[in-house]
Amino acid sequence: MRFAILGISHETNTFSKVPATYEQFENAHILRGQEMVDEYAESQYTISGYLQGAEELGFEAVPLMYANTGPIGTITKDAYDRLSGEMHQMLRDQGPWDGVLISNHGAAVSEEYPDMDAEFTRVVRDIVGPDVPVGVTLDMHANISKDTVANTDVCIVWRTCPHLDAKQRARKTAELIYRTVKGEIHPVQFIEMPPMLVNIVKQFTGQEPMKSLVDECVEANEIPNVLDTSIAEGYPYADVDEMGMSWIAITDGDAELAEKTAKDMAAKAWLRRVDLNKPVASIADALRQAEERYVGPKPEGVENYVPSDGTALAEAEPSDHSHLGPIVLMDVGDNIGGGSSADSTHILKVAKEMGVTGFLQTLYDPEAVEACVTAGIGAEIAIDVGGKTDDMHGEPIHVVGTVSVIHDGPYEETRPTHGGFRFYNDGKRVLFNTVDGMTILLTSVRSGNTAREQMYSMGIRPEDYRVVVAKGVSSPRPAY
Ligand SMILES: [Zn+2]
Repeated sequence: MRFAILGISHETNTFSKVPATYEQFENAHILRGQEMVDEYAESQYTISGYLQGAEELGFEAVPLMYANTGPIGTITKDAYDRLSGEMHQMLRDQGPWDGVLISNHGAAVSEEYPDMDAEFTRVVRDIVGPDVPVGVTLDMHANISKDTVANTDVCIVWRTCPHLDAKQRARKTAELIYRTVKGEIHPVQFIEMPPMLVNIVKQFTGQEPMKSLVDECVEANEIPNVLDTSIAEGYPYADVDEMGMSWIAITDGDAELAEKTAKDMAAKAWLRRVDLNKPVASIADALRQAEERYVGPKPEGVENYVPSDGTALAEAEPSDHSHLGPIVLMDVGDNIGGGSSADSTHILKVAKEMGVTGFLQTLYDPEAVEACVTAGIGAEIAIDVGGKTDDMHGEPIHVVGTVSVIHDGPYEETRPTHGGFRFYNDGKRVLFNTVDGMTILLTSVRSGNTAREQMYSMGIRPEDYRVVVAKGVSSPRPAY
């Protein structure tokens, strides 16, 4: 039994000014064959789950090709044609197949195809024909269309945000496709797409209202004859028709039950639509609260809080940890995982004005990194940092301080991370300590704060700070 594995994974921010060119994919990931195994066999990503399924269920996994980039702008026609052309040709040439497993993000937009995932799966279906089962596993921030669901037999979405269950969900996709090939089941799926959005700051599935919606989704999976249930939060930074939340139910041959189950889940969420869009604190309020709640550094012997999966994250909501430091503020306006600039200075500016000390944050600023490298370790210099990519993320901030550490960029995180990734590279980076008690980690690559090792590898202990800014909404939570 041979299953092909392939995919283009992209979360397209259609408002971003940085196009996703072929070179952008090359700089991130274009993997073929064994390279996919080397990269993901030991990770927690979708492809890892497919490989695990092959090993445990006993089918032959044939990794063809996989490409992704960070969530930047629209995929150029050239990039889509070259990537999909090569992958689809492999699928044609190396068949016949018993099944196909796709690893797409589910929120991809190309110049030619506003619903790239539908186009990609349409061609896959066209190549393998109607009788070969096709499964796809999508990121929880997927904007899923009816077409993508129609083009596949099994469409499964991750159920945790931050994303800690990619591998498990992909393992499930592999299993359902495997059982379909064996003739044990006949999956039928239905997608319900109410006109609903969840504010990005409410997307954490360990807290209400998302926690209940995910619980209801998991419960619906227990209904007899229901094979799987998914809830997608959608990706709001995309001006496309299918943008928004959706619910999918897959049953064993029962179209009516699939429709009813998906609609019931969506109907319950509709009642919570106001909770899904409550506003958040201003920067000054958040900093004031952080100053008030901070008591001191973490006492010796108190373990770092490390969730093992989405459930643990929910159960261990650390409400009783408020006497500890540091306070982590999510910079939701600079959501790098969502395609943002990574150099927003809005919080830094207010914190500086308020005189907040023991303050730690990262900033993407290759120009400042260069200036620091030229000045050398131990040099005290004045530089303008951040706010240089566009006019939406604040002005550059003038800081005076010392170049303390210079580092080449790569680091490895073995703790749980959003998306299940392990290897990171921030490019050349510099630890800059300002004279007014702030620490800024300057990077040459747009990097999020999803791994605490990002700090340890620079000799920084975030535990020793009062206020840590983590750029993102949910993605830094497993790390911090
Ligand atoms: Zn996501």
